[in-house]
Amino acid sequence: MAADILAAAIHRLEAADIETARLDAEVLLAEAAQVSRVEILTGTLVVSSEALHKFDSMVTRRAAREPVAYIVGHKEFFSLDFEVTHAVLIPRPETEFLVSAALEAIAGKPGARVLDIGTGSGAIAIAIAVNAPGAIVTAADISAEALAIARRNARQHRVDDRMSCALADVYEALDNSEVLGTFDLIVSNPPYVSEKSLAQLAPEILIHEPRVALTDHSDGLQFYRRIAQGARSHMTDDAQLMVEAGAGQDHAIVEIFERAGLAPNGVINDLAGIPRVVIASNRRAFPNTPR
Ligand code: GLN
Repeated sequence: MAADILAAAIHRLEAADIETARLDAEVLLAEAAQVSRVEILTGTLVVSSEALHKFDSMVTRRAAREPVAYIVGHKEFFSLDFEVTHAVLIPRPETEFLVSAALEAIAGKPGARVLDIGTGSGAIAIAIAVNAPGAIVTAADISAEALAIARRNARQHRVDDRMSCALADVYEALDNSEVLGTFDLIVSNPPYVSEKSLAQLAPEILIHEPRVALTDHSDGLQFYRRIAQGARSHMTDDAQLMVEAGAGQDHAIVEIFERAGLAPNGVINDLAGIPRVVIASNRRAFPNTPR
């Protein structure tokens, strides 16, 4: 019975041009019936009418190109489970490279202070806090709705005692309660899709993800400029800044960092070979004076 239900759903999703129709249908049925995917694959599952009803509305949403993560309400990132809603971007696997680089940067610094600009679900900030148990993290976002999700995720992963949330536009606190101080590490996955490239995004992203998290409505580089301009006054002398880059933006970001007086010191490629993380140091730690 579950096999017929599944086959019909796969058919509907394929008709909606969804390449991962089978996988998506399996994940959604598992969620609707509150079982593991394995139980669906063995073919012994009996689907209650309640679960069937739930599954049907989930498939309808997916056929309208809503991402699976929003339908099930959570997404795995850096081996941790995060609640997601339409108020936040769905964490992407390529962003895990930013977290790895961040953890490496603060490895020898217990008590490191970390700022995550545009935290959204809190995925980056929380993955850092969980894996760097001494780190003190500030998760900043312009969206109060996003910060509420980040707070819930921090509680879920028991790092809320080391993570504070700041309602802020880049470095500028918006509610007077938090003044962003200085940090040993600043990280960000800012909205970097240019206004021109918006139309090329998949419907899952363009229609369903928050526009405020995707684009600067300009050339895609505005947030790197703003982050770079304020960086040095929020960085300790040996602090690092690292950002996720959109495909093809790495050279422009390196130039922006240099112009802001920062010292670029590395680019990390993602699994597709795309330069994905751009790193810079506070130049004050590297005086130019010849010895
Ligand atoms: N990585 C997103 C995409 O799929 C963009 C996210 C962002 O702007 N930071 O295009």
